[in-house]
Amino acid sequence: MRVPLMAGNWKLFKTAAETTVFCERFLPMVAAASHCEILICPPFVNIPAAVAATQGSKVGVGGQDVYWQKEGAFTGEVSAPMLKAVGCRSVIIGHSERRQYFGETDTTVFKKTTAAIEAGLQPIVCVGETLDERESNRTEDVLATQFKGGLGALRPDEFAKIVIAYEPVWAIGTGRTATPDMAAAAHKFLRDQVRGAFGEEAAQAVRILYGGSVKPANVKNLMAQPDIDGALVGGASLKPEDFSLIVNF
Ligand code: PEP
Repeated sequence: MRVPLMAGNWKLFKTAAETTVFCERFLPMVAAASHCEILICPPFVNIPAAVAATQGSKVGVGGQDVYWQKEGAFTGEVSAPMLKAVGCRSVIIGHSERRQYFGETDTTVFKKTTAAIEAGLQPIVCVGETLDERESNRTEDVLATQFKGGLGALRPDEFAKIVIAYEPVWAIGTGRTATPDMAAAAHKFLRDQVRGAFGEEAAQAVRILYGGSVKPANVKNLMAQPDIDGALVGGASLKPEDFSLIVNF
């Protein structure tokens, strides 16, 4: 039985004060939600405010990225032990915006994922095709390549700690959602990849989230798909009302 994970990716939004206000409004709205895990991922500098504001609640806090070295002369980076020490439970790795704007590759995704696991963080590893790749029938090739390059070389005990997020790039922040059938097919394909690489037990256990313009109005149909185990939500996770409706799908 896979427990759904409903995660909010706040990208480059909200100050520390706005983070606190969000939590004051959001926590009572999800206090009774025992059916899922809940996570918010603010920008690095606002993680302490989020940790303080969610203390004693069931809402966890995660980072949006991480560096693979523990410490050293790497100006601007934040390490996995640092995220853990400040109170993070999880970290998003390989988001398509990191891949598109910041040179993230499957190789760096693999390094970040192993570093996160070593520090005791739950990596949420993003994969997904662009519009051009979908329209030229390359979706499965892209997903297989990203899966193999980012996750294929993990040890089975490492793989058991990760969450996968399928995020079609053309659906992120565009208001264009994959239909439940499209998402279901991609999730099934990814679960088959897991089965091939790590076996049946791992395939049944791993959670695969859907991300890409998830809203209160479409979350129910997406979550009704058997291979969709939660959502990674961008824009709609910034509003307490909308994110609570998504959490309480
Ligand atoms: C995301 O940032 O991971 C995302 C899915 O964004 P949005 O929900 O805004 O499409």
